[in-house]
Amino acid sequence: MAEQSNIEWTDHTFNPWEGCQRVAPECDHCYAEVRDQRFNGGNHWGPKAPRRRTGIANWNKPLRWNKQARAFAAQHGRRQRVFCASLADVFDNAVDPQWRADLWALIRSCDRLDWLLLTKRPQNIAAMLPDDWGSGWPNVWLGTSAGTQKTAETNIPHLLAIPAAVHFVSAEPLLEKVQLNALKIKGNITLDALRGEAQEDLTGKPVPAPISRLDWVICGGESGAKARPMHPDWARSLRDQCTAAGTLFFFKQWGNWIAEIDRDRDDPDWRADYSKTKRDEWAILNADGGIGFHGDRVHLMKRAAKKVAGRTLDGREWSEVPA
Ligand code: SF4
Repeated sequence: MAEQSNIEWTDHTFNPWEGCQRVAPECDHCYAEVRDQRFNGGNHWGPKAPRRRTGIANWNKPLRWNKQARAFAAQHGRRQRVFCASLADVFDNAVDPQWRADLWALIRSCDRLDWLLLTKRPQNIAAMLPDDWGSGWPNVWLGTSAGTQKTAETNIPHLLAIPAAVHFVSAEPLLEKVQLNALKIKGNITLDALRGEAQEDLTGKPVPAPISRLDWVICGGESGAKARPMHPDWARSLRDQCTAAGTLFFFKQWGNWIAEIDRDRDDPDWRADYSKTKRDEWAILNADGGIGFHGDRVHLMKRAAKKVAGRTLDGREWSEVPA
């Protein structure tokens, strides 16, 4: 019954509208923007571009999934997850507020579905919630992106300030090592987002703890023709941070690059292998994100089809999801 989405952590994808604007480095190769150029004239991206509301037939899909809730639960032993939205941003301030009001009404009426709202604009969430949000609707999970340390430090404090049934982060595409357990936020305050603890600043004044902690972290590499490689140690670091804090971890994909040679552990003659191959099929990547032979933990990354690259990390899949 999970017929609608190829995204590994959801059952369905629902787009109430399409169109957006790039707001972070993670947006650089936005799949949705490319798709808009290909199928919808490419007029729906940018600050002044009109967004395109999807049709009634599309808006009726969640109602149908909601009706199928009992059968789905009998088959899978859990509720259906709906990712909203993959081709837009629910908290985009260029969207007609009436569209978002209609979306909240739909979410309210489909209360047997778990709605996953993932945004790159968490600073807008508070002003765009429905009046009866209270301590969070039980069927709505709120998430934000954290593919770089800067994005994590900008986005996560906004997310954790809002009550929600589940708080999650999508570190995809993961573009560098990200310390979710040591976010530098205002002044000298350090926030451990995985434990929901803020440390005292250097003046010794106690800092208020965030009201929440992250329940779930999704991690993945980039796919597409211009995909950037993900160093394996970045993914390992997120996994290890989550494991230490008891946070659920989902490794979604390597994307279009895989680690071919780990210089510290594999063939010492790897430079010779590299020199024989086409340059655009390989990248030399160190743990700091630098491309080149120098630096720590240098890896030879190789282009690969997404399916070939797969989604195992150190020999196993990581598919933890909140219940
Ligand atoms: S926020 Fe999402 S949909 Fe919007 S440009 Fe960035 S990646 Fe694309």
